[in-house]
Amino acid sequence: MRIAVYPGSFDPCTNGHLDIIDRSSKLFDKVIVAVLTNSSKSPTFTVDERINLLKTAVCGYNNVEICSFSGLLVDFLRKTGATVVIKGIRAVSDFEYEFQMALTNKALYPAVETLFLHATSEYMFLSSSVVKEVARYGGSLKGLVPENLIPIINNRCSNIVDNKL
Ligand code: ADP
Repeated sequence: MRIAVYPGSFDPCTNGHLDIIDRSSKLFDKVIVAVLTNSSKSPTFTVDERINLLKTAVCGYNNVEICSFSGLLVDFLRKTGATVVIKGIRAVSDFEYEFQMALTNKALYPAVETLFLHATSEYMFLSSSVVKEVARYGGSLKGLVPENLIPIINNRCSNIVDNKL
């Protein structure tokens, strides 16, 4: 069985993330979306909230699982039996860091391959930070996140303090 892991903060998930999940789900038998819990960023949404948002967004897929992980990604890969890591690339600026991480993971776990999927052009600008910024100032999230997540994200972002975006 070909299992891929799509790791990230997903704080919160956006249509850009969901596009990568959708495309990955067609390439692999199983895709595990892994929410990182030990990120150096201080997140706006708790891990449980991020997982619940993702679960709501991907409930139509029978080969996509959502879970959290902490520690090294390679340890999580070994535990789940996955040998492929999915990364979305929006611009060259994403690539430099992701390339370094891919080589690090390869050095730690030679069986792993990192698969870079380009962003779909309509989502190239889209990040979790953009979503939070728009929501915070009362802009419309239509087209940026699934419609059924909009009230939850708006509710949380309306009282964000300056340094939490
Ligand atoms: P971000 O805050 O940049 O959205 P994440 O850690 O949540 O960060 O991103 C997880 C993965 O999803 C990364 O591989 C990132 O490059 C990718 N990603 C994020 N947004 C998009 C997008 N709009 N299109 C394609 N890939 C994306």
